[in-house]
Amino acid sequence: MHKSLAQFSRSAELFADSRCYLAGGVSSGMRAAARPLPLFFSSGSGSRLTDVDGNQYIDYTLAWGPLILGHSHPAILSAVGAQLKQCQLLGAQNELEVLVAKKICQMVPCAERVAFSTTGTEAVQIAFRLARAFTGRRKIVRFEGHYHGWLDDALVGYRPSFNSSEHKPEARLSTNKNGNAADEMVVLQWNDLEEVEAALKNHGEQTAAIITEPILCNSHCLLPAPGYLEGLRNLATRYGVLLIFDEVITGFRVAPGGAQALFGVKPDIATFGKAVAGGFPFSVVAANREIMDLIEQRKVIHAGTFNGNPLSLAAACATLDTLDEDQGAVLKQIGRTGKSLMMGIEGLAQAAGIPVLINGVGAGFNVAFTTRREMLNYRDTLDSNNSARDVFLEAMLASGIYLLPDGRWYVSSAHTLEDVARTIDSVGKVLLKHKAKLMPV
Ligand code: PMP
Repeated sequence: MHKSLAQFSRSAELFADSRCYLAGGVSSGMRAAARPLPLFFSSGSGSRLTDVDGNQYIDYTLAWGPLILGHSHPAILSAVGAQLKQCQLLGAQNELEVLVAKKICQMVPCAERVAFSTTGTEAVQIAFRLARAFTGRRKIVRFEGHYHGWLDDALVGYRPSFNSSEHKPEARLSTNKNGNAADEMVVLQWNDLEEVEAALKNHGEQTAAIITEPILCNSHCLLPAPGYLEGLRNLATRYGVLLIFDEVITGFRVAPGGAQALFGVKPDIATFGKAVAGGFPFSVVAANREIMDLIEQRKVIHAGTFNGNPLSLAAACATLDTLDEDQGAVLKQIGRTGKSLMMGIEGLAQAAGIPVLINGVGAGFNVAFTTRREMLNYRDTLDSNNSARDVFLEAMLASGIYLLPDGRWYVSSAHTLEDVARTIDSVGKVLLKHKAKLMPV
């Protein structure tokens, strides 16, 4: 076995076995990117994860975001445990639905009514349906590098190759010829209001919605340029188009009311998933009453066997109560913990003479190996040095720090000052030891 795999020998065995039966050896394609291999884990507690070889890690993946309170948070486990004693699934109403719906409407600025589903992908699909039914239009404006789930239409334009003809401006703005899902997506560059205005000038009357991640977490955690979200809001209003914030990552992570509360820009529709139930499968679409009434009027179909399942609702209740306590003190603390990591990493990289760019906010950020000092959109992320990133991630893993394969860091309330100190210590050692491989190419 290769030396770098010796530490993960049981994971390697299980992965080889898994590939014989489970397509690709993993349950979500994104996990296949883990290096040096997708690890198998046996338990998680607080900020720590333990793999099947007995290695322990400080976990900054948080299951790709949901574990905002860390692994096995006592309040969540006890709420779910108590619910489990009552029943597991009803396919009918239960009181927790009302509690959670009310709570979200109190916390989220754009929410007058909500609808529940299980995954972020579904919540986005409901949002598209609502926008199309509300406006009577079909096109959706979306942005390169933003991820809105894995269904066909939502994947159009997610990660375009730079020279792809699909992304010549005239093709991007082409009118709907065939009426299929791909033709209904208008893919633009983010952080450029002129592009949006030009598209709406041409196609405003056919456009139902603009969908955006309010912070571009899926591509280097880029922040909206000052005034950009406000600009989108104004353009959407001017052209009678609905503005959708996909808050599946930012929701209940960057502020109790999501990015819309953080930036003070109210979308027409917002989608939530991941952190809302602290690690249980649960998603939400939220909007004003007029839009959401389309569901009651049966103009928009919303269904699902597992919608509003009591276990996820119990988890959501416990999570939201914790996040809403004390004017959002928990998320403020997470923000501070993350900021100290961001500053620590930046300082060490600077001292080592290794150019890095850290984008994002404390609760979620990305470390890119690049000489760029600023990134505005997906295209700006493409020349980051990904082999340097992979060297860094593998070395961090070997030193007990578990990170996502795209260089993203998620921070939870379970991360302690001691975790931060240990992490920063590992970063310093890794940067110095691997400096030659971490420099720009
Ligand atoms: N929207 C965004 C912004 C996401 O990051 C994701 C998942 N990473 C989704 C939607 C889809 O959510 P799910 O994986 O729960 O279907």
